[in-house]
Amino acid sequence: MSAMHTTPTPHLPGSTATPRLALHGDLLDFTGTPDWGRTDDPAVRWRPGHWMLIDGGRIVAIQPEAPGPDWVRCNQAGRLILPGFIDTHVHSPQLDVIASYGTALLDWLQTHTFPAEQRHADPAIATAAATRFLDALFRHGTTAAMVFPTVHKVSADTLMAQGHARGMRLIAGKVLMDRHAPEGLRDDVTQAEADCRELIARWHGQDRLAYALTVRFAPTSTPEQLAMAARLCKEDPTLYMQTHVAENTDEIRWVAELFPEARSYLDVYDRAGLLHPRSVLAHGIWLDAADRALLAARGAHIAHCPTSNLFLGSGLMDWVSLRDAGARVSLASDVGGGTSLCMLRNLAAAYQIQALRGQRLTAWSALSACTHDAAQALHLQHEIGRLEPGCMADLTVWDWACDPVQTHRLSLAASLHDKIFAWMMLADEHHLRQTWVAGRCQYDVDAAADHALAAH
Ligand SMILES: [Zn+2]
Repeated sequence: MSAMHTTPTPHLPGSTATPRLALHGDLLDFTGTPDWGRTDDPAVRWRPGHWMLIDGGRIVAIQPEAPGPDWVRCNQAGRLILPGFIDTHVHSPQLDVIASYGTALLDWLQTHTFPAEQRHADPAIATAAATRFLDALFRHGTTAAMVFPTVHKVSADTLMAQGHARGMRLIAGKVLMDRHAPEGLRDDVTQAEADCRELIARWHGQDRLAYALTVRFAPTSTPEQLAMAARLCKEDPTLYMQTHVAENTDEIRWVAELFPEARSYLDVYDRAGLLHPRSVLAHGIWLDAADRALLAARGAHIAHCPTSNLFLGSGLMDWVSLRDAGARVSLASDVGGGTSLCMLRNLAAAYQIQALRGQRLTAWSALSACTHDAAQALHLQHEIGRLEPGCMADLTVWDWACDPVQTHRLSLAASLHDKIFAWMMLADEHHLRQTWVAGRCQYDVDAAADHALAAH
């Protein structure tokens, strides 16, 4: 049994005991999954002007009264405090190719992504990339993530080591890819299994880390490799599985040629035994009713990647039908297909995708999808996604406005939903003040500004 269920207080190398801290601000989170389209939802928990007490890296109390003198105070009055965002699908090496011009999925992989990922076989490049990537997550308000590094064992190893050093919730695994990829980016079943077993033994359940069998997508794994991944999942049901599904119509045609026996793209994974309650599948745009029912039956969930879907022209995901079928949906940046690590920018894109489908995404459904709902879909609701005593103190502090237009608009807000929705659409990572992970400040805009000045 993995140690991850015991949620130990992370050990941060070089750190002393975490201070007893009291953070003051306007607290927003969710006690359940908000109903679709409902702007006055009872699952919304709004606690303006409250104090959050943090001890040993965890939230221990939330109260309107100021705490006693034995608590270190961090007064963020007039600012918004949210649970740290959870990005359920993102590629750490693809900061190298974010915002690359002119291609759709399959062409984009060949032209931009695969050449960039080849470089990450070099331990120095892999280490620098992991550091840059995790620091960037914190600078964008994301405190927990499910990540694809590259096919190289060293890229997963360094990413896990860096996540461990930060005391963060990180789920990742070496990418599996034994065909239809260039030289230097292919493994084979035997070596891949050995690498996975070694990485699982080293990292799965270590503090806040978990391992995910990481199948890039069906076209780049042989049936034998898919079966190997499924076998490892079966050996330890606490392991996650992450992959892509039904992103692009050319991709779907290719999968149908490669797996003629499968009913659908999703069915390829089901036949292999890869769909289970810890399976996270990115995109899920081109699914039918039988696929949606299958997702719900297996307890697997879709990581919706709005800026990626718009940028690569992949399609408009049918969120409502997934919900109606009983399947869960979380939010993801999918950088570098996605154009921003900032979940707020992805939420704005998600709203626009639903608008093009004739639907309306409330601020509540949007924000819950990258906090409460994502935590629940990952079976981590006891640890992340809420501002609740017992949860880890993973949270973010935001400015409401950064310019006079935003200040003016928010001053005219007619309701809490109107205010939060306008903020969500207008704000981005430049509104982020602080990011706290396990009760430690991992990003502070003022410290960052001082640092930049000193370096000048
Ligand atoms: Zn992806």
